[in-house]
Amino acid sequence: MSFEELRSVVEVPEAGDAPLIMAGPCSAETEEQTLATARQLAAGGLKVFRAGIWKPRTKPGGFEGVGKEGLAWLKRVKEETGMLVATEVAMRSHVEQALEAGIDILWVGARTTANPFAVQEVADTLKDMGATDIAVLVKNPVNPDLELWIGALERLYNVGVRRLGAIHRGFSYYGSGFYRNLPQWHIPIELHRRIPQLPILIDPSHMGGKRELIGPISQQALDMKFSGLMIESHCSPDEACSDRSQQVSPEALRIILSSLVVRNEHRDTENLQNLRQQIDSIDTELLELYGKRMEISREIGKYKKEHSMPVVQESRYDDLIKSRVAAAVRMGMSADFMKTVLQAIHEESVRQQIEILNRQEPDMDGHLV
Ligand code: PEP
Ligand code: MN
Repeated sequence: MSFEELRSVVEVPEAGDAPLIMAGPCSAETEEQTLATARQLAAGGLKVFRAGIWKPRTKPGGFEGVGKEGLAWLKRVKEETGMLVATEVAMRSHVEQALEAGIDILWVGARTTANPFAVQEVADTLKDMGATDIAVLVKNPVNPDLELWIGALERLYNVGVRRLGAIHRGFSYYGSGFYRNLPQWHIPIELHRRIPQLPILIDPSHMGGKRELIGPISQQALDMKFSGLMIESHCSPDEACSDRSQQVSPEALRIILSSLVVRNEHRDTENLQNLRQQIDSIDTELLELYGKRMEISREIGKYKKEHSMPVVQESRYDDLIKSRVAAAVRMGMSADFMKTVLQAIHEESVRQQIEILNRQEPDMDGHLV
């Protein structure tokens, strides 16, 4: 299948080639939470809002979403902030209600993509309603099966959906580990090779499962030239009804996004990983060297204590700074950078020497002096 007629998922005219960023809570929980989150995200410049209304849960009894009621809140988000709104659909009634409410973008969740009957039902509903012009994003199936993922895209394409995209959120596995869902980057990379014109967004929230991983995974996604990000953001993440540990406040998200670098040059993943490994091992060496340096500092501290010398000797410090800064500049680093580094090292050295100076040591008779 060629997917020749694919059109862009979202037109954000001022965005140019910038990555598409969708953000919003895992679930719409209350009208206040939905609107407060959306207002803050819109104020941060985001244009596409996501929120789950129907939540597929692993086991019964969890928070299964607010259902239809939440669609009215998304409608308000759209009217008040001008953002496009997106929600997850898994069956005919979801699609009908979402379309009635004027939702702009639908997404098919990972558990649904794994079920061809459900995907076909979503596709058929769009066809029956004459609504194939809507944008649909298809998350990868929970299991690492590229054909199943492409199959879901085909089912939608076959009924006439042309504004199609994919979302890579990682693949589930038995047990627990660093990632909530494994990236297995070769799979979305192969999807891109097979359907180059299909936009692929990365969902660092479900992939990492924890807040700290949103920034690093997002940067990795941009470095690998994926088309955008879908990130979970909640106005009070610690109180969220679902996926609490992986949601960030709109303000935290703004900081994460502003720290991301969109690089223009092409780098392949293997090369990038190789370079990162080199950085890691240099950092380890640096740490070891700092440790050794501090050890010597402590020796000097003991010497100074025994000879009743002051900890800081101005002239020695000035000479040290001058010679090191000059060397750093010769190596292409800025003088300011080297001064800052040396100052921080010096401060830690002094702190360690003062500790030694103040340490009470037992005398020959075992008394603390
Ligand atoms: C979601 O986006 O909130 C969600 C349920 O994701 P997934 O289908 O990737 O688990
Ligand atoms: Mn979620």
